[in-house]
Amino acid sequence: MRKLPRVLVVEDEPSIAELIAVNLRHSGFEAIWASDGEQAQREVDAVLPDLILLDWMLPGQSGAALAKQWRKHPRSKAVPIIMITARSEESDKVQGLDSGADDYLTKPFSTQELLARIRAVLRRRVPEAVQDSVKVGDLTLDAAAHRVSFRGRELKTGPTEFKLLHYLMKHADRVHSRANLLDKVWGDHVFIEERTVDVHIKRLREALGEAGPMVETVRGAGYRLSVGQGTPS
Ligand code: CA
Repeated sequence: MRKLPRVLVVEDEPSIAELIAVNLRHSGFEAIWASDGEQAQREVDAVLPDLILLDWMLPGQSGAALAKQWRKHPRSKAVPIIMITARSEESDKVQGLDSGADDYLTKPFSTQELLARIRAVLRRRVPEAVQDSVKVGDLTLDAAAHRVSFRGRELKTGPTEFKLLHYLMKHADRVHSRANLLDKVWGDHVFIEERTVDVHIKRLREALGEAGPMVETVRGAGYRLSVGQGTPS
């Protein structure tokens, strides 16, 4: 159901990049390769990765400079970065972490070590992905079982409506702009229009039936899941 975590591998040596990419794909990740900073930036601009594996020694811009640049930018500042390097000096390690990297791996490293570090960093960084259940008024959503019910009666929703509802329920009684919903529910993707949100909100209301009015339109601002609604008298 969930999309594969997308890992951007920034590495100028094709043999190493290939080896990492193959191992990642075998382990359930989507691996994208960039051989220098410019290419890496283009990938980051196109689709924000879930994690970046960044080589320290690159032609042109160094890995540390790239990490600093991504950390400064609001769009990429939260993307986890694992720095990869041939250096093993303690001072370089400190410098790597100072530049904004979340973790550090020294070449040569084993595949097991790489995967363990990636999983650890992703776990720390993605609390939203934790499977849980939420209750708002008479509406219950069980993320693990992928189930929604209203007053004990199960409701059918599409996958996008489910994600949308999950987010709205976790942040109930707050107004969310379309841009914010796109960012939080669809993930960072530049090709989706804000109108898409309206389409899915409409479908979500239909799927919710009686509980549909809980999803309120806040004119000029966005949408809100309201606890006080959905209880027709
Ligand atoms: Ca290199």
